[in-house]
Amino acid sequence: MRVLLVEDEKRLSAALRKLLQQERYEVDAVYTGLDGLDYALTGSYDAMILDVMLPGMDGFEVLRRVRAEKMSLPVLMLTARGDVTDRVRGLESGADYYLPKPFDTAELMACLKTITRRGGVAPQMTLGAGDVELVPQEARLKCTATGKEIRLGAKEYQLMELFLRNPGQILEKETIQERVWGYDSEAEYNNLEVYISFLRKKLTFLGSAVRIRVSRGLGYALEVEG
Ligand code: CA
Repeated sequence: MRVLLVEDEKRLSAALRKLLQQERYEVDAVYTGLDGLDYALTGSYDAMILDVMLPGMDGFEVLRRVRAEKMSLPVLMLTARGDVTDRVRGLESGADYYLPKPFDTAELMACLKTITRRGGVAPQMTLGAGDVELVPQEARLKCTATGKEIRLGAKEYQLMELFLRNPGQILEKETIQERVWGYDSEAEYNNLEVYISFLRKKLTFLGSAVRIRVSRGLGYALEVEG
């Protein structure tokens, strides 16, 4: 399996390259959008890992041009902190999967395996648990039991996504804050409880059986049954 890695952060690129090589992928690493486009169009790759923020030409433009020429190349897009607008743009531009930074390396490997197995034809997988699922194109949460849908704000969406990726598991507050707000945002540091209460209200509105349970001193968990 040959992978084209387009990521301008040298340290991240080097770490990913090492990881991919350990998993027996052959890796070509480039650091600008133009090089990414060049390599993607002239080389023979099984997948491309494409950062959004790149010098010169951004990942969306690279993807658009690649899709105009090579429809079938599976593309995994990376970007900072899972901005929903970026996610929608990425999927509309033809990304097979979109992974917000910071990500687990295990998650990246799982995504890569999924998109290469699918040969790049499958759409974004549906993320859901119990009777709720996310509708990424419109940033909505849907209850499959009642058929109701409601729009989520960007942070609510990211929070719900994190819970749905880890159903039933207690997520520590620090972990949630780090994943949704990043390392450097003091301003929103204390807003987690507020957003949790928003999500709870929305789950109630939807008539869903899914609950967000608090474990005092530990964190929050998405309770899927009962
Ligand atoms: Ca970048």
